[in-house]
Amino acid sequence: MIAAGADWIHFDVMDNHYVPNLTLGPMVCQALKPHAKRADGTAIPMDVHLMVEPVDALAAAFAQAGADWISFHPDASPHAHRSVQAIRSAGCRAGLVFNPGTALDALDWLIDDIDLILIMSVNPGFGGQSFIDAALRKIEHARKRIEQSGRDIRLEVDGGIKADNIARAASAGADTFVAGSAIFNAPDYAQAIGAMRAQLGQLGQRR
Ligand code: ZN
Repeated sequence: MIAAGADWIHFDVMDNHYVPNLTLGPMVCQALKPHAKRADGTAIPMDVHLMVEPVDALAAAFAQAGADWISFHPDASPHAHRSVQAIRSAGCRAGLVFNPGTALDALDWLIDDIDLILIMSVNPGFGGQSFIDAALRKIEHARKRIEQSGRDIRLEVDGGIKADNIARAASAGADTFVAGSAIFNAPDYAQAIGAMRAQLGQLGQRR
């Protein structure tokens, strides 16, 4: 993936509880961490997306395992503010994730403490789903909230992203794009990433 041009490695952590599927644990993150660098030695951020409930114990385990960014669903933590603080005090950057049916209300009281907002453009739990167009409006709303906050917060979108919709997500305000099956199901990873980057290049986006 890194050789093919990926900027970050995104970890979809599913617990068979908050979501119906079961995927990677912190040991996998720890095992991959030494390989998360480019040929010239530059580190590639490990971007951990926790689809787990509760949040705090696994967030701490992933911080130990080398995560750089840790995002969680605020509805999966009874004390989302405390979860954000715990992630940041463990030396990671913290993100909040919003499902297609979840309002951005948690930002009212947490936007001054977070580093990333992740908008789900599919329901969490499975790869290979189609992009939900309503996510574009939510990205626009989130972008406005970031501008109002005056803070440097990344706006990431996750679910169904591919070359033919990445420009729309970018135009709505996203600056960070998660692609799974669009890359892994392509015969040539570099070509798949290059096709998405070309779409963004026309918009002058940083990723
Ligand atoms: Zn994800």
